[in-house]
Amino acid sequence: MKYFLTPNAVLKHLEKPYLYNIKNDELYELNKTSFQFLIDCSTKNGGYSNDNKFIEYCIKEGILNKKYTAVKRPIIKKSPIPSLRYLELQITNRCNLRCRHCFIKHQNDELGLEQIKKVLTEFEKMQGLRVMITGGEPLMHSKFKEINEMLADFSFRRVLFTNGLLINKKLLNKLNIHEIQISIDGLEKAHDSIRGRGTFKKAIRSLKQAIDSGIDISVATMIHRKNLNDFDKMQKLFTRMGIKEWTVDIPCITGRLKENPDFQITPVEGSKFLSYGYSGGIHSSSKGYACGLHLMAVNANGYASKCSFYSDSPVGHINEGLQACWSRIKPIKLSTLKCDCDFIEICRGGCRFRAELSGEKSGKDPYKCAYFKKSI
Ligand code: SF4
Ligand code: SF4
Repeated sequence: MKYFLTPNAVLKHLEKPYLYNIKNDELYELNKTSFQFLIDCSTKNGGYSNDNKFIEYCIKEGILNKKYTAVKRPIIKKSPIPSLRYLELQITNRCNLRCRHCFIKHQNDELGLEQIKKVLTEFEKMQGLRVMITGGEPLMHSKFKEINEMLADFSFRRVLFTNGLLINKKLLNKLNIHEIQISIDGLEKAHDSIRGRGTFKKAIRSLKQAIDSGIDISVATMIHRKNLNDFDKMQKLFTRMGIKEWTVDIPCITGRLKENPDFQITPVEGSKFLSYGYSGGIHSSSKGYACGLHLMAVNANGYASKCSFYSDSPVGHINEGLQACWSRIKPIKLSTLKCDCDFIEICRGGCRFRAELSGEKSGKDPYKCAYFKKSI
């Protein structure tokens, strides 16, 4: 019996050989034999193995089936080390909201179609796993329809980050997206106080429509002074709705939050809520390194940075090539940080941007220290 890779199963050569299931975001490390077998399975001729247990497992995981499907398979070649696995792609910094905690500079920039195509092609060649399409509000890009059509050609997971205001059933039916992440910053009163009146109802309506469409849905929540009493109820709401993943974080102080002190919270206050949220699955990463080891951002002005928080300290422009930009981001070893607690491998020094804001480049993230009940 011959076996074939399913269309969502893609082989990637990162630090080691892997199989990535784009649909459910699972990453499987492979040994040489299974990698070669799965390469055979990606061809028209199919692969043969007498390891029934392995075959059974792959079928159960949606990796293999008995029928060949003609799909464009990306070139498998060794990625740079460390590998660039996740790309934040800010296609525009325009937005239809002006949230009180936003750190984005709304300068009316947007990436052109050719620029986006070039970046995505390079990312795929570099064996990338997941693109997060962000803004501003990405649905405000003047050519979003064309971008969406282009996305279908690429073999990585596509996640759309949105405030939910422009989501509707017609759009959902056409989206070439695996996951939509909608921002919900509290129950109605708290959410509307930071994002604008009426935005909660619209975001929840979009959340429901998106769930009905069958696309994976996740929610992102920022902790602020007005939503501190909402977390238990939000947790019940999101679990009942079947939300796959709920990310809870502290908003960045460098943006509009500075002008809105009523919404700011201290590390001790905020850290109490960092235990909320749940995750569908996190890919394992190399031990001993701080956050962002496999992440880079491309901003709407064409400049690349370590992540979107570092957009004011770019490492290069996409005209120089994604790989050239990536090679300039130096991994941060945990051993070089001032961190000295027992949680370092779980916390990984917290958010380096937040840590740097407290004064020292190699310092500690005060919110994470408070969370892990450490003094700084
Ligand atoms: S936080 Fe998001 S939705 Fe709100 S203004 Fe900023 S980019 Fe727009
Ligand atoms: S809890 Fe604080 S000291 Fe410990 S790793 Fe995290 S940021 Fe560093």
